[in-house]
Amino acid sequence: MSFVAELNALPLEALLQSSLSTTHDAARRVLAGSASSVNDFAHLISPAAGELLEPLCRRSQALTQKRFGKVIRLFAPLYLSNECINNCKYCGFSRDNPILRVTLTVDEVVREARALKEQGFRNLLLVAGEHPKFVSNHYLVDCVRALREEIPGISLEVGPMETEEYRPIVRAGAEGLVVYQETYDRASYAEMHIAGPKRNFDWRLETAERAYAAGFRRLGIGALFGLSDWRLEALAVAAHAEYLLRNCWKAQLTISLPRLRPCAGEFEPLTHIADRELVQLVCAFRIMFPDVGLVLSTREPAKLRDGLIPLGITLLSAGSHTEPGGYTGAGKEHLHRTERGRIVELGASEWATARDGGVHATGQFEIADGRSPQEVADLIRRLGYEPVWKDWDAALMA
Ligand code: SF4
Repeated sequence: MSFVAELNALPLEALLQSSLSTTHDAARRVLAGSASSVNDFAHLISPAAGELLEPLCRRSQALTQKRFGKVIRLFAPLYLSNECINNCKYCGFSRDNPILRVTLTVDEVVREARALKEQGFRNLLLVAGEHPKFVSNHYLVDCVRALREEIPGISLEVGPMETEEYRPIVRAGAEGLVVYQETYDRASYAEMHIAGPKRNFDWRLETAERAYAAGFRRLGIGALFGLSDWRLEALAVAAHAEYLLRNCWKAQLTISLPRLRPCAGEFEPLTHIADRELVQLVCAFRIMFPDVGLVLSTREPAKLRDGLIPLGITLLSAGSHTEPGGYTGAGKEHLHRTERGRIVELGASEWATARDGGVHATGQFEIADGRSPQEVADLIRRLGYEPVWKDWDAALMA
């Protein structure tokens, strides 16, 4: 049975009500014991447990140090393309947004990767909008092949594919696949995804399972907080993680906790999760899933990221750009604008500015932590942790 059937059978509303009416005693009981069910998780994210934030943080910190040691893995997103055939109301890359777009050539991708390698990164997340014409699985295979000798840790965050389409990408050397459901609330999902293949909720929900079947050894999931009630999303993510740990047990699992950021299209978040609630959520995921990696990106401001490092986060991005070519200026020679999905060439003066480096492809969203990777690594050391740039090499599989 796929997770689609499990999600359909999950009493999400009842779990949400159970969370909202959790007593302090019930929250304390789960905190003192072991959380082993989605119902226990509902207690951990309850308003009552929110008033026990200190002991929650202490438990999460102790578990994280026991399972992961005092290390933080660092990675960087490398945007390959901001072309997209979907209209997602909350995303800067949406098809109908009149933005500057580009798909990097394989040589340009290598240039970007080398710039990130110079900064220390050995784990890269290749990110692209969903556009089979520009970002085909053949293109992705070529990118991974071109990078694998220099970059030991390559993961992808791209449009969902069939298992058979993933296999050559895995053979080329990619190890991880990240796919966020964005929202697990079907009604909200239908409202947010107004055009394109992404409208198919179930197809997206089964992506991690198809990726596992194709041989990816790291799987990443998450919800984009700001589209539906945060507790409802968190309950569904917990159920999804629990399913994947049971059914895709050979893979390492990570959970990301992205909150919506400003982007082209100027979408405003529909719901809010406060900083304090985000801290509670990180701790709840750690207590429920002691061995799962928890990811925090540069969407969050520096102060909050620094505070969360000792509490349960195990993977951080740093120095991120969300536009293709953002690290070196690569790709500016073939920038174009799109209007309602149609390509419109740049005018002469825009070309001249682009060639001088004054115009870039549009980013997916604004980042909040603009510190350099070295600044983030120094901060990690000052907190008594070790920044880890590389934790995997293909030779380990030989
Ligand atoms: S969220 Fe993904 S699929 Fe949707 S518009 Fe943005 S890049 Fe495209």
